[in-house]
Amino acid sequence: MKKVLTIAGSDSSGGAGIQADIKTFSAHLVYGMSVITSVTAQNTKGVLAAFDLPKEFIEMQIRAIYEDIDVDAVKIGMLSSSEIIKTVAKALTYYNAKNIVLDPVMVSKSGFKLLKDEAISTLVEDLIPICTIITPNIDEASLMAGIKIKNIEDVERACQRIYEFGAENVLIKGGHLDGEPIDVLYDGKDFTYFKGKRIISKNTHGTGCTLSSAIACNLALSYSIVDAVKRSKEYIQGAIENSFSIGYGVGPIDHFF
Ligand code: PLP
Repeated sequence: MKKVLTIAGSDSSGGAGIQADIKTFSAHLVYGMSVITSVTAQNTKGVLAAFDLPKEFIEMQIRAIYEDIDVDAVKIGMLSSSEIIKTVAKALTYYNAKNIVLDPVMVSKSGFKLLKDEAISTLVEDLIPICTIITPNIDEASLMAGIKIKNIEDVERACQRIYEFGAENVLIKGGHLDGEPIDVLYDGKDFTYFKGKRIISKNTHGTGCTLSSAIACNLALSYSIVDAVKRSKEYIQGAIENSFSIGYGVGPIDHFF
């Protein structure tokens, strides 16, 4: 059984964060583990509040796992501050963690800031260099690369810029651009383009969390980067197609469609 870890925030409503990650792990038949960085009070309408765990306790959770269990892949989600980012980067470096997938979570779809502005530079300097793949959306990629992304050429330039920060692979999710969605993967040499079809659904809570977790699962299962992204995109597409309504706001996707 492959063992996959998520280091991320908890979503009380179960659609995003740690809960989405663990559901994704189960759907991929891998063993899921979690290091919780922050606890959010949220529902389908938005995030009411977030409470960060002390960095010492985050470090302790990582230590507990890596000193006992051989982790095949790790997905990183919400890390809200510079000190938490530094703690996670240092611990994963110390334990020589492999297959690190970073979803650079910044703002929830409902507009709640999940990462402090001043921490973006820490993410770039301390965490990106140890990542196997980083999966920003257009807004996150624009902020990290310092490029206002309007078209596919801008996406390619942003991929190259973020790659230069030290990630082994960069996947920019193009869903927020006009037209049919296209995601672009860059490995420092070649671009690979993943065309999708736009699915009209109001229930898309946790899609970013789920895609990055699926990539971590597929890397743990020994697929190449290109195949891991391809399979994960097929998975997220099915999960969105089967999304459903709970509550009054943006509902979840179906991890077990
Ligand atoms: N809450 C937590 C704890 C998250 O990690 C994330 C995204 O990664 C979100 C909320 C945001 O999810 P969405 O943007 O799909 O609403």
